[in-house]
Amino acid sequence: MTTKIGWTDETWNPVTGCTKYSAGCNNCYAEPIALKFQKRGIPGYEKGFKVKCHPKRLKAPYTWLKPRRVFVNSMSDLFHPDVPDEFMFEVFTVMNKCPQHTFQVLTKRPERMAALNDKLLWTANLWAGVSVEALKYASRVELLAHCVDANMKYISFEPLLEDIFGDRYKTKTRYNEQVRFFSLINDHIGWVIAGGESGNNPRAMQPIWADKIRAFCEAQKIPFFFKQVGGRGPKKGGNVLRGEIFMQYPGEILSSKDKFKLEYGQEFGASEPGDKPTSRRL
Ligand code: SF4
Repeated sequence: MTTKIGWTDETWNPVTGCTKYSAGCNNCYAEPIALKFQKRGIPGYEKGFKVKCHPKRLKAPYTWLKPRRVFVNSMSDLFHPDVPDEFMFEVFTVMNKCPQHTFQVLTKRPERMAALNDKLLWTANLWAGVSVEALKYASRVELLAHCVDANMKYISFEPLLEDIFGDRYKTKTRYNEQVRFFSLINDHIGWVIAGGESGNNPRAMQPIWADKIRAFCEAQKIPFFFKQVGGRGPKKGGNVLRGEIFMQYPGEILSSKDKFKLEYGQEFGASEPGDKPTSRRL
């Protein structure tokens, strides 16, 4: 299915439905969509937002001729406890057999991802990501970093609910927690997404929170994708951060400054060609 989610080309939902799990789920966009589809009688949504596996959808990636980035389960979480192991293995088999596509697997439940790691084949076309909406969920990155064998690991700071990269010098514990988090990202993470919440009652994100993440990524040469400021609609606040658009992917680190330079052959800011990193862990 084509999508409005800026950091992917396609969504593929072999599983739909979920249950709320952490603060970032409070305004989950998938739930109202699933309930609307249920009301309209759209096949596959008979149970609304309850977890449902769709074996018939498994073959879809084989039919896509053009290589693309595929967000796996935009309407669910592949590692939800109600998804049977066997079905998850079938999803992985399809992804393993489609090296022409890049599959973006994103979860708030990396504990299950880690527990099943020995049974999952993380071929190079699979990216493993965790959502971190607040610093208290930093342990998700720990699990991703140390217990998952994917070549490319990423974090989605979405919806960004607090100033995760802000100074936490008030207590030693908080400070140490943050330093440890930074070094985990630095050592293991190859792509970072950030964005504010959208929907009917969005919790406001201060652009400075996202900009601190951007600055960290720039310093560590980690590709950074800024999805949206957020607001009552996904496009409402736009996707401009400090006057620029950041839509970088692993394997490239082009900000609008770099793009300007490439397109017009002129310097536009401080970036130098030598600064462009190759993606980490790819
Ligand atoms: S994990 Fe994702 S799909 Fe599931 S309830 Fe939370 S936001 Fe929604």
